[in-house]
Amino acid sequence: MDNTEELKALFYEVRQCTQCPLHKTRTKAVFGNGLPDSPIMLIGEAPGYDEDQTGKAFVGRSGQLLDKILQACNFHRRKHVFIGNILKCRPPKNRNPEPEEVQTCLPYLMKQIELINPKILVTLGAVPVKTLVDKDFKITRQHGEWMQLEDRWLLPTFHPSALLRNPALKRDAWSDFQKVVEKYQELVDPEHKIKS
Ligand code: SF4
Repeated sequence: MDNTEELKALFYEVRQCTQCPLHKTRTKAVFGNGLPDSPIMLIGEAPGYDEDQTGKAFVGRSGQLLDKILQACNFHRRKHVFIGNILKCRPPKNRNPEPEEVQTCLPYLMKQIELINPKILVTLGAVPVKTLVDKDFKITRQHGEWMQLEDRWLLPTFHPSALLRNPALKRDAWSDFQKVVEKYQELVDPEHKIKS
């Protein structure tokens, strides 16, 4: 079934949403970007300054690093991945989201997952995996371990902003993304190759 119209309707709903206080301080809500039938969905925490200004997901320095990682995996935003966040509106000064804000916004993400129907979810940073799977999750110990969200595979890894703050984590993040490539080869395209 073509999900484009339903995603478009959800996009307009998010853009006008006033269900939590974050609507008062946002510039633009950030719905997420990618094809409606992307096999991989990347999920971050919340929009930052650049995302709030443009309405696009992962466009600042973190987004540029994420693009480099995706390119190294031979994944492309317009072909393989949909990128979004748990929260659609930026918390002021990038403060941590309040639990009520997360719970209010979460149904939008769950609807996106249902409509896009990705085979693989990759969570970036601790907040998304704590919200979706395990509130006691420890990113430093448990990143790179496959988990299940209902019948989908989910791999937690570091948020690119953590890699910018601590470049020593890049090696671990790369190893996590190689697991994503392997799962993609197994579930979607056995011919997919990492660029050498
Ligand atoms: S963060 Fe989510 S629930 Fe809150 S106003 Fe934005 S779209 Fe609505």
